[in-house]
Formats: sequence, structure tokens, C-alpha cells
Amino acid sequence: MQFNDLAAQYRHLKKEIDAGIASVIEGAHFISGPQVEELERELCAYTGRKYCVSTSNGTDALRMPLMAMGVGEGDAVFVPAFTFYASAEVISLCGATPVFVDSDPRTFNLSPDSLREQIDRVKREGKLKPKGVVAVDLFGLPVDFPKVEAICREENLFLLEDAAQGFGGSINGRKACSFGDFSATSFFPAKALGCYGDGGAVFTDDEEMAKLLQSIRVHGKGSFKYENVRLGLNARLDTIQAAILLPKLHAFDEENAHRCRAAARYAERLSGRFQTPYLPEGFSSSFGYYTILTAGAEERAALQARLKEKGIPTMVYYPCPLHLQKVYAPLGYKRGDLPVSEELTDRVLSLPMHGYITDEEIDAVCDALLES
Ligand SMILES: *Cc1c(COP(=O)(O)O)cnc(C)c1O
Repeated sequence: MQFNDLAAQYRHLKKEIDAGIASVIEGAHFISGPQVEELERELCAYTGRKYCVSTSNGTDALRMPLMAMGVGEGDAVFVPAFTFYASAEVISLCGATPVFVDSDPRTFNLSPDSLREQIDRVKREGKLKPKGVVAVDLFGLPVDFPKVEAICREENLFLLEDAAQGFGGSINGRKACSFGDFSATSFFPAKALGCYGDGGAVFTDDEEMAKLLQSIRVHGKGSFKYENVRLGLNARLDTIQAAILLPKLHAFDEENAHRCRAAARYAERLSGRFQTPYLPEGFSSSFGYYTILTAGAEERAALQARLKEKGIPTMVYYPCPLHLQKVYAPLGYKRGDLPVSEELTDRVLSLPMHGYITDEEIDAVCDALLES
């Protein structure tokens, strides 16, 4: 059994994907070819955003808005501790300080109450200037943006949605990648919408910011490539990846609906025994990762071993909260500072999930988990 069966997806979309790749090779327009703009247009239409700037990966997509906002030394940027390292790493790369926020125990996303507390603490201490928030849509579920957007407005903070896992989710019909001042997503192969290498995109509704992002994407270019007006990156999406993403985007809603049905089947069988994903009223998840809560690290290890024996792969996203990672030791956090994040890292277990998973596979996973 595959954790994410990319080969099954390729079998379904082979004709379109092969034709797309061939057309890029024949057109020989490998960087910034026409498929890149076509993809950006379609991503705008899909998410409801005005501007899309495709990028070389999700990490650059997160970093570029921070560069555009002039984030730097002395700035505090709030970010959950329970996420992938890149969400915070980009803050540090800009010279700013990540201030870690605890998670909601039901959604696993950043807790608006904890965000409030951390903002107040930073203001009280007076050492750092609160500048922005990176809010992560974990496992496919959008953050409580109505609450987080209100806090950001009140505190005059910019809001960057890390939708690397969020693409396809929504709140009352409003799609992920459309919240806050900027959204960033990743097309890493394992994500719900993935390419065949690295890729990503930034979204915004602000025309000036979109232009700035386009400049940062190509070495801080001015009116043309060899006029350099600021520091930038080489952060373009390859044309070939855009050509691969187009047919995958066209199939996305169907695959997403399949994942949602699969999630419902998992929940039906597992919810009495494990905490299964919680969807607040009006929220929908793209279930890029299907993550349950076990009783604790010991039970989780035993379950993983049992499933592995039966050929069922599982993953732990993520085994260590960021405030306790070695890289952030200089910030002086200790165990107990963000208790929900710490507990989640001991208890989460992600199960096989993708747009082509079969009922038989789901049942096999559940049978193995429920064996006592
Ligand atoms: C995958 C991921 C990223 C980074 O994306 P890359 O394309 O691998 O650079 C950032 N944030 C989160 C939450 C992710 O899951």
C-alpha cells in the first residue's frame, strides 16, 4: 500500500501529463514559458485571488512576501510551533524572530487565543516589534481566519496564509489561498496538488505587492532582467512543472471529493477509538494528510510497528514542535511553554490518503488499527 499513490494518479492522467511535458520540450521554452502564465491564471480563477506568482518551491513562496513586507531584524512574526520547519525558517532567514503560538487541540491549527496572548506578551516585553502572522492550514484544514484576520487588523499585523497543505480547503465557500494579505502554497509532490519536482505559488489581491513579488522572483529585477533594483531570488517555477500541474489542477476537484469520501469512511470506522479530524461548522478540508490522535507516543509506536508489518505505511507529521527544535534553542523556549503543540507531536499519526485510495485499502488500515 502507498501512503500517497502518485503512480495511480499518473495512470489516470498519463495522456494529458505526457502531452504537456512533450509540448514544453517541443516549444523549448523551459523558463517562464506560456504554461506558467496559463497556470497562474487558472490558479487565480480556482482560488478567487486576483494575482498569482508561481515560484520554485513553497519555501520561497513563503519567504517572498516577508521580503516584500521588509521583514527584518527586531521584528516579531507569529507562527505556530506545530508545523513544518519552513513556516518559521523563512522568518529567521529574513533576520526576524519567530514567536511561537500554540495550537487548538481539535483543529491542530494555530489557536487565536494563544496568538492573542503571544502578541500581548511581545508588546509587554517591548523588545521586538510585532509585524505579522504566518498562519498554517495544517493537513488541509484552513485556519480560523475570521478570528485571525480580526486580530491582525486590530493589531496592524500583516497576515500570510501558509497554504502549503491547505490548497483545496475552504471556509463557507471561500477557498484556501485567498485569506490574509498573502497566501503561499507548495507543489511538492506529496502535497494535495503536487508537481514532479519542486514548485509553489504566492497569491495576493494587491497589485503593487504582486509586482514586487514578480521582481523578487527574478533577482530583484526592475523594468527588465538586467536592471536590478533590489535583492531578490531565483525563484521561478519551471515551465515543465506548470505543464504537469495544469492537468492535475483540472482533476483536483474530483480527487478532492474522493479524499473527502475516504476521510468520511476512516472517521466512521475510527472515531469511537481515536480522535479523528474535526471540521468546524462551514469549514472543509482537502485532507492532504489524514491525521488521527492516538493515546500517546507509546501506543503510536506500537500501532506504527503493527501497520508496518502488514505493509501499511504511516507518518508522524510532526515529531517535534518548532520551539523545542535545536535550531531555536537560542530563543530559550522550554518544554511546557506550548503544551498543546507538545502533546500533538507525541500523539499524531497520519494514515494513507490520496485521490485514488480504495475502500479496501481504507478498511485494511482500519482493521489493523482496531485489532486489539
Ligand atoms: C511543504 C510545506 C512547506 C514547504 O514547501 P516546499 O515546497 O517543500 O518548500 C511549507 N509549509 C508547510 C506547512 C508545508 O507543509
